[in-house]
Amino acid sequence: MGLVVQKYGGSSVADAEGIKRVAKRIVEAKKNGNQVVVVVSAMGDTTDELIDLAEQVSPMPAGREFDMLLTAGERISMALLAMAIKNLGHEAQSFTGSQAGVITDSVHNKARIIDVTPGRIRDSLDKGNIAIVAGFQGVSQDKKDITTLGRGGSDTTAVALAAALDAEVCEIYTDVDGVFTADPRVVKKAKKIDWISFEDMLELAASGSKVLLHRCVEYARRYNIPIHVRSSFSGLQGTWVSSEPIEQGDKKVEQAIISGVAHDTSEAKITVVGVPDKPGEAAAIFRTIADAEINIDMVVQNVSAAATGLTDISFTLPKTEGRRAIDALEKNRPGIGFDSLRYDDQIGKISLVGAGMKTNPGVTASFFEALSDAGVNIELISTSEIRISVVTRADDVPEAVRAVHSAFGLDSDTDEAVVYGGTGR
Ligand code: ADP
Ligand code: ASP
Ligand code: MG
Repeated sequence: MGLVVQKYGGSSVADAEGIKRVAKRIVEAKKNGNQVVVVVSAMGDTTDELIDLAEQVSPMPAGREFDMLLTAGERISMALLAMAIKNLGHEAQSFTGSQAGVITDSVHNKARIIDVTPGRIRDSLDKGNIAIVAGFQGVSQDKKDITTLGRGGSDTTAVALAAALDAEVCEIYTDVDGVFTADPRVVKKAKKIDWISFEDMLELAASGSKVLLHRCVEYARRYNIPIHVRSSFSGLQGTWVSSEPIEQGDKKVEQAIISGVAHDTSEAKITVVGVPDKPGEAAAIFRTIADAEINIDMVVQNVSAAATGLTDISFTLPKTEGRRAIDALEKNRPGIGFDSLRYDDQIGKISLVGAGMKTNPGVTASFFEALSDAGVNIELISTSEIRISVVTRADDVPEAVRAVHSAFGLDSDTDEAVVYGGTGR
């Protein structure tokens, strides 16, 4: 008998009908002779609504209480799902992250899983139950407080459980038919990818393709867990994310030169204006940011003006950390020494990802030409071996993504990508 882990995102369980539909799918998997563990997200936009609510009572809620609040969303869906399955005549038990043995560090709002001890899940499976686990949450090892894993964290819960239970596959059910060459909400002609390597998927996820979370893909690569991303609304095969290409017919699927285009409008840009051009300045700025436990993304330093010996340093970071970063820099202004700070949250990032970039000259040139033909101005550039990213105005992002997608021949000439549900929030 095989063991499968299935994860259903918020849009798949958005209402009672959705929960009943998903329950039927889960029962099918069980009837096919599998042991089934289900990880479920909060219904629809519940997590966003809880965040809005918290902000109405306190502008800076304490991390411990914030996590306690947010985990309530997944508790609702897990219990309802277990009820719906029982109603179909099958046994199911729901478990919180803590009960399922998801042990984390104690960094509230973005805790990392450090161990998974799924004893209770195993017992429940051995008794013939379907086990339903609340995604996105755990319990901290030292303080025993309830933690959350960061937005979209149910993907990580699913892969971590799949690894701990030695599952054959981790199925991620969502509101699109798999991983596409671009976000189907932006590019109607995006194509479904049959297979993608962990490496390319990591870059897409890190560049904003929220269909899979970066940490989840990292985890899957470390433990070599194949992920199958697919729709909970259709019966179609989705996208396999794994180390080795899958077989189609008697041939292996080939690695694409370009896997896709990702975009991200969740970042902001801070420019530190008038920084003395001498050793140690960049170090002082980024030490301040690091001490505030804020992750940054791109960094650019301008050439200093000869007359003044002053330069500007810009960097990007999650918008949600903008306020704290500005406060931290202002506090250390005397030590660092700069004139002023500029904050810009109207930026967007567009990234082209593909392992073939390493060996195909001209990819960068074609990428910039596509943006220029679309009349899009580039503000920052960064590259890795298999990715090129640029920062532009946020308003330009949809047009820029479509232009790059077409320029690299990624447009489908047959199907339109289907988005089955969700609000895209
Ligand atoms: P869930 O609630 O199931 O976790 P998410 O909203 O987190 O779903 O992720 C699914 C969404 O990811 C899709 O509706 C789509 O808009 C978005 N997305 C972004 N990039 C891609 C991509 N390359 N392929 C597929 N979906 C993508
Ligand atoms: N409910 C959480 C969120 O909206 C976790 C998840 O859906 O993966 O971010
Ligand atoms: Mg998600």
